[in-house]
Amino acid sequence: MFTEGDFIKFIPYGKQSISQEDIDCVVDVLNSDFITQGPKIEEFEKALADYCDAKYAVVFNSGTSALHASYFAYGISNGDEVITTPNTFVATANAALYLGGKPNFVDVKLESGNIDASKIEEQITEKTKLIAPVHYSGNPVDLEIIHEIADKHGLGVIEDAAHALGAEYNGKKIGNCEFSDMTEFSFHPVKHITTGEGGAVLTNNDEYYERLIKFRSHGITKNNLVNESPGPWYYEMQDLGFNYRITDIQAALGLSQLKKIDKFVERRREIAKIYNEKFDENPYFDCIVENDNSLSAYHLFPIILKDEFKNKKSIIFNKLRESGLGVQTHYIPVHTQPFYTNLGYDKNDCPVSIDFYEKEISIPMFPSLTDEDINIVEDRLFNVLKNI
Ligand SMILES: *Cc1c(COP(=O)(O)O)cnc(C)c1O
Repeated sequence: MFTEGDFIKFIPYGKQSISQEDIDCVVDVLNSDFITQGPKIEEFEKALADYCDAKYAVVFNSGTSALHASYFAYGISNGDEVITTPNTFVATANAALYLGGKPNFVDVKLESGNIDASKIEEQITEKTKLIAPVHYSGNPVDLEIIHEIADKHGLGVIEDAAHALGAEYNGKKIGNCEFSDMTEFSFHPVKHITTGEGGAVLTNNDEYYERLIKFRSHGITKNNLVNESPGPWYYEMQDLGFNYRITDIQAALGLSQLKKIDKFVERRREIAKIYNEKFDENPYFDCIVENDNSLSAYHLFPIILKDEFKNKKSIIFNKLRESGLGVQTHYIPVHTQPFYTNLGYDKNDCPVSIDFYEKEISIPMFPSLTDEDINIVEDRLFNVLKNI
């Protein structure tokens, strides 16, 4: 398709958008008295909580540490089971293992890659404590059904919303925590806003909030002391926490990025609309359709190959990469990873997640993708598919 010497524009599947304004905010912090644990952390937390309409946000140095902290704050410990999805980044499940808990994978729906809520109840045991659904690609899961099941069985709900900052469900922002215990976000560069590395947990619950704050900093606190304070130097380590703190430098970047979140999400939704129109009724693949009661934040734009092209996925994938599209696959089902099969997980479980994995390709989706780029993606994609 290209001859040697042709300039091929490489288009990745995801990418951050950093402005001069963002850079200036970071430089300001570098010139200030505090580069970590300063005022930008709380400003960022307040802005995040306001944006999602939650009472509290606690920021962390990654989405993974945020997940770990949220499961800890909920009280996950030895032997507790956490229901989650295999169609996610490993961190959602690993966070349960960190605490001695056990992820229990529930299969997904082929049309969305989201957890199949109708299969959750059959996986609940007396050890189940928590449901941790993932809004795959930014498209909200069936939260109403999940909350109903959680209420009926006395379980908590922590949403992994790493893909879903700016998404809406029943007219409210994901992260509002009206019915969920906590919601986690990630600020990795491919996500909606970035702090380089970073994450957050949102909650409306005072107790979870205190536990999250402590966990972020070695389990140390100066509040609600167990012993009487002998003087102003005194602090107590009350839990086994970690150093999961984010820096003020990063928080300043996050705060500046968050000012643009509506624009970012709007452009992602615009790109999705154009893709959906271009791809309508094509013979090769399906796209994820949004539910009537929700808006996707389109972290990803997954295409799902039709059955007859499934066995050609690796050829299609390689040819798309050769054409200069930085396509990716989300995700290798977590229970099939060697670490998990070594723990005794059956790699043939959750067959729909495996089918989804074998059909899914994530094509470019990020706010700075231009209309011209979208045409290039379309051309390269159909060029490959037509010649397969
Ligand atoms: C990105 C991501 C995470 C982890 O976030 P990090 O910030 O990379 O630690 C967790 N869950 C999902 C679904 C993700 O996409």
